[in-house]
Amino acid sequence: MSPTDCRRVICWVGLCLFHTSLLGGCTRPAVIPPEQAPLPPSSAPAPPYVSPQPPASPPAQPPISDSSYRNVWKPAVDPRDWKYIVLHHTATETGSVESIHEAHLQNKDKSGKPWLGIGYHFVVGNGQGMGDGDIEPTFRWNQQMHGAHAGASDPEYNQVGIGICLVGNFEDHPPTAAQLAAVKTLIRTLKSEYRITESRIIGHRDVRDTECPGKLFPMQEALSDRIDRPFAQTPVPPPASTVPTALAERERSSTR
Ligand SMILES: [Zn+2]
Repeated sequence: MSPTDCRRVICWVGLCLFHTSLLGGCTRPAVIPPEQAPLPPSSAPAPPYVSPQPPASPPAQPPISDSSYRNVWKPAVDPRDWKYIVLHHTATETGSVESIHEAHLQNKDKSGKPWLGIGYHFVVGNGQGMGDGDIEPTFRWNQQMHGAHAGASDPEYNQVGIGICLVGNFEDHPPTAAQLAAVKTLIRTLKSEYRITESRIIGHRDVRDTECPGKLFPMQEALSDRIDRPFAQTPVPPPASTVPTALAERERSSTR
């Protein structure tokens, strides 16, 4: 090769390289990069379909080891200045908020005025008339009214005492396990929310001459913080027997 031919070859190679660099900077490369590898043959097994999973739902019950329960019974009105919890039994084998309400409508107070209805703030069912372990607040709780349950010489137990009644006759047998678990949870919640000391959580018999809540009602166990099993709770709207607010207000002012 002559020196002239040699220069031609060098120029030709140089021009080729110049064109290649121009093409590489603005056009798509002719070679498929590794991540765009061709599709696998159709005979290859398809990856298994995994349906999207919904997030895990929270537990239905509050954690039973927690020392302060969320108060699912918080009333919509300002709370009364509660100082006592008074425990009762119905002394009957069946009962519900409605049946007790009907019975208490027949009662009269010391001045001869008929009661407005159920005198308790809460009823705990035993499976006969209400669900076993169900806790149902009454109109007195929902409207934060005084109770009509203690019948004590000191009116304070009705004025600032939360009346809890368990369905059953605990002179004959103890409460069901679900009732006991429920009332323990209720007591613990109310005690914490309204700062009621343990010495002020009493049986009806502690304030008047009665067997209520029965010799087989386990008072010590009811006050214990140990919870053996979850409970059935029924935070419900006011029952059908709810007393109109105007009537409730009239009774409230007449008892002051
Ligand atoms: Zn009683």
